Amino acid sequence: MKIAFIGLGNMGGGMAANLVKAGHEVRAFDLSEPALAAARAAGCATCPTAKEACAGVEAVVSMLPNGQIVKQVYWDDVIGHAPEGAILLDCSTIDVATAREVISVTEAHGYQMVDAPVSGGIAAANGGTLTFMVGGSQSAFGRAQPILAAMGKAVIHAGDAGTGQAAKICNNMLLAIHMIGTCEAFAMAQKLGLDPQTFFDISSVSSGQNWSMTSYCPVPGVGPVTPADNDYQGGFAAGLMLKDLRLAMEAAKSSGAKVAMGEHARAIYESFAAENASTDFSGIIRTL
Ligand code: NAD
Repeated sequence: MKIAFIGLGNMGGGMAANLVKAGHEVRAFDLSEPALAAARAAGCATCPTAKEACAGVEAVVSMLPNGQIVKQVYWDDVIGHAPEGAILLDCSTIDVATAREVISVTEAHGYQMVDAPVSGGIAAANGGTLTFMVGGSQSAFGRAQPILAAMGKAVIHAGDAGTGQAAKICNNMLLAIHMIGTCEAFAMAQKLGLDPQTFFDISSVSSGQNWSMTSYCPVPGVGPVTPADNDYQGGFAAGLMLKDLRLAMEAAKSSGAKVAMGEHARAIYESFAAENASTDFSGIIRTL
């Protein structure tokens, strides 16, 4: 299939390369020259503009920093430049309202579109093991599924337009809350004279057990190897967690959801990320 790929950053670069590996003809565009050079090395055909990347394709995939840029790219470069009837897939993490607006406008112009944000970081993007949560009609999902399957290990239909983004921010809000709770528990256990490994051995088979403890333990040398064992580098940056928490708080406000713990987590990551935006989000334990 001929696919345009717009946004070849930390995540998009590896994803575009996996589409090439799956046998697709990828027409790639990014504003950054090093990103274009890496895409060429991975077998993509690079284009001088996003409009040109969209010419003659059957699908467009985007992986961009935020909702404002997503809107700008779809308004200026995709609508009227990708052939009518093409399937459009935005994999960026953006706010639910913008995702719904972009899908509604592009569909009014004769395209089909899904919001398909991802769970999994740069290693999963490179390794083709992302999880995609997809919002859109059944028919749009049916067309997007095989394209996403070439870049991930799981592709799940969340519901109508925007529900992929809803799933992503609800999941990450919960992740932030249980990471902070897990860090607090380890820090207090230690202050009360408990060895961290012993607390892990007890809590990981008791009712406090959770993913932040058993799969992403914030204490170095305890549990599986995690960013904590690498000085809190190379995982999911606190700045990106803060971005997702801000999106979650916007969505809570617009939907009237009560998220006292989510709001507290946002405030805690706001203050942590001010100095430690590139540190892994589990590094919050250092502040406790
Ligand atoms: P990034 O900043 O590394 O990449 C974004 C790319 O978009 C850059 O290469 C930039 O040059 C390009 N870009 C910006 N404006 C453009 C435009 N108008 N036209 C074409 N290209 C443009 O970011 P990333 O880490 O790859 O993240 C991309 C998205 O994925 C974000 O929405 C992020 O929240 C989400 N995400 C990231 C991770 C992660 O671990 N990095 C995990 C899950 C989701």
